[in-house]
Amino acid sequence: MVEGTVLKTIRLGALALAMAAPGAFGAAMPGPCDRFVGKLPNVSKSLCEQARLVDSGARSVQGTPLYVRDVKPPDARLRVLVVGAIHGDELSSAAVALHWLRLASDEKVDLPQPVHWRFAPVVNPDGLLAHPPKRVNSKGVDLNRNFPTPNWERDAQTYWQQRTRKDPRRWPGPKPLSEPETRFLHDEMQKFKPHLIVSIHAPYGVLDFDGPSVPPSRLGRLYLDQVGIFPGSLGNYGGVHKGVPVVTIELPNAQRTPLDAETRQMWLDLLRWTSAKIQGDAAAAR
Ligand SMILES: [Zn+2]
Repeated sequence: MVEGTVLKTIRLGALALAMAAPGAFGAAMPGPCDRFVGKLPNVSKSLCEQARLVDSGARSVQGTPLYVRDVKPPDARLRVLVVGAIHGDELSSAAVALHWLRLASDEKVDLPQPVHWRFAPVVNPDGLLAHPPKRVNSKGVDLNRNFPTPNWERDAQTYWQQRTRKDPRRWPGPKPLSEPETRFLHDEMQKFKPHLIVSIHAPYGVLDFDGPSVPPSRLGRLYLDQVGIFPGSLGNYGGVHKGVPVVTIELPNAQRTPLDAETRQMWLDLLRWTSAKIQGDAAAAR
């Protein structure tokens, strides 16, 4: 009798805890929109909330969740990974990723090949949330030089020492994939197996492309200008060594997004090129 009562109390206690937990954690742990709204240009609370970002389970060096969101039409065959703010001080890149996420969810565009999108709008949250925001992560690593390209040990360090003269904003890190943020992206590439990666940056106002197949000649007002190959960059790793084409978008301004109409035009151009590309690739494979 006594045992039964104790058991009942424990059960009730556990139930009470379980019921209290979501509210309690919700209050204690800031969500993605608490973190990013106010920090990102042209991102309202409602835009951020509509994005319904999901905790991927991966964490930054400082323990911030790395958020993702999938948008998948039922008949999608092509997988595209969209990456923002791998450089934390390129605020507009995360904002544009969130605007594109909304367009991917809302806008019905008839395409020959529907796309399964995976968005990771803020890959370097520690850099983005720093005051002032920083390009590098909280260990001072340029994440876009930390990918395991061949001869990384030699080339990335030599490049950093000789070409950048040890620019602290461009340190490739102690070894390839030394950072949780780059390991997260690397894992996503393994699991999601994207046919295409779109990596958003700023502020050079051009379009770059690495990898097989024909690059887009323009997206909105951005024109193709292949600027070069960097040891340890995502474009170099994905495009040149893994055979996954990488479109690198350099927005014209790191603090401000393009006008909404231009952001939409870039999105539509990206959609059309992506859809045509898979058709071309499928035709070539036949
Ligand atoms: Zn960048």
